[in-house]
Amino acid sequence: MWNSPKVGILGGGQLGRMLVESANRLNIQANVLDAENSPAKQISFHDGHVTGSFKEREAVRQLAKSCDVMTAEIEHVDTYALEEVASEVRVEPSWQAIRTIQNKFNQKEHLRKYGIPMADHRELVENTPEELARVGEQLGYPMMLKSKTMAYDGRGNFRVNSKADIPEALEALKDRPLYAEKWAYFKMELAVMVIKTKDEVLSYPTVETVQEDSICKLVYAPARNVPEAINREAQALARKAVSAFEGKGAFGVEMFLLEDNSLMLCELASRIHNSGHYTIEGCALSQFDSHIRAIMDLPIPAKSLEIRQPSIMLNIIGGATPDSHLKAAESALSIPNASIHLYSKGAAKPGRKMGHITVTAATMHEAETMIQPLIDVVDDMRA
Ligand code: ATP
Ligand code: MG
Ligand code: MG
Repeated sequence: MWNSPKVGILGGGQLGRMLVESANRLNIQANVLDAENSPAKQISFHDGHVTGSFKEREAVRQLAKSCDVMTAEIEHVDTYALEEVASEVRVEPSWQAIRTIQNKFNQKEHLRKYGIPMADHRELVENTPEELARVGEQLGYPMMLKSKTMAYDGRGNFRVNSKADIPEALEALKDRPLYAEKWAYFKMELAVMVIKTKDEVLSYPTVETVQEDSICKLVYAPARNVPEAINREAQALARKAVSAFEGKGAFGVEMFLLEDNSLMLCELASRIHNSGHYTIEGCALSQFDSHIRAIMDLPIPAKSLEIRQPSIMLNIIGGATPDSHLKAAESALSIPNASIHLYSKGAAKPGRKMGHITVTAATMHEAETMIQPLIDVVDDMRA
């Protein structure tokens, strides 16, 4: 058995909180670096937490002193701080992986060398209307203008439908480093959680994700009406993409399934991921359990990553008022097989992820029937 190891986590949001839940069950102390009373700290009482930001050099140094292995719940961390502390503490995944992945353009340039299929894209260097118009001629319309950095929940994306949209697009993403992507005409979005261990690259089954306003709304596990060959192909592509990076732990891989059934990478994340929340109820080992085991070099039986029952995850996103998300959670209390996860982030803002619900059932159809009333509540809340 292991000897009272301590894990340091950069970031104490909902992903950090669910990671702490998994660490707790193995008697592993998780020291969280984030603001006082962040969601992860609220469920973990000890004196090892660090107050500050994962973007502050000094705070990262302080966390490094208190743990055996360091990891991150978010990719937007100070990787120069991680590079510095990597000589004294293990950093998983590697700071190099996080640095490359946190810049979506660099991530794609790196993955291109490994033959990973993705939408054609162009870097912008001047961010002028003339430059973007030239790119538009090359990629065609619509195209997606994207911030290279600090992107999440679609905040950093702007759909450019025609040349006329260019001024508005550049204004919406002004002062950010940009690149543009050719439009991907997908029939479905798929995702795979990959777990990189010291000597293996494992994957969970392929799931279907549904985004609304570029924010993940629903996850169907396994993906509905997707032939087994595509399920396997998507997992293989995800493992291949993750193999291009150094380090251990969970990686979330987002993909597009195109009309001709070919797959394209959308992006990947060097961390536990929203598309993998269903694993808490749906699999023997959740993505959070697997992440902790991977970074601690503990065994992960591949069988434990299989889906035990079809699962649907619904995100509870902040609505019109600071407490409208609670209405969704309240309705979920009466739904059979619904597991409720609230993140304790305080008052909601529109578009902010406040919690999620997972329903599992013997068949996908049954799960769909059970969760439908809740989807209706969420849709009403939004309207
Ligand atoms: P995340 O919260 O997943 O990190 P993000 O802000 O990094 O999101 P992306 O994942 O790049 O943004 O894009 C968000 C969504 O926008 C995708 O899931 C997809 O629905 C849509 N999208 C992104 N790129 C394209 C594209 N090239 N063509 C069509 N749709 C796209
Ligand atoms: Mg992203
Ligand atoms: Mg994404």
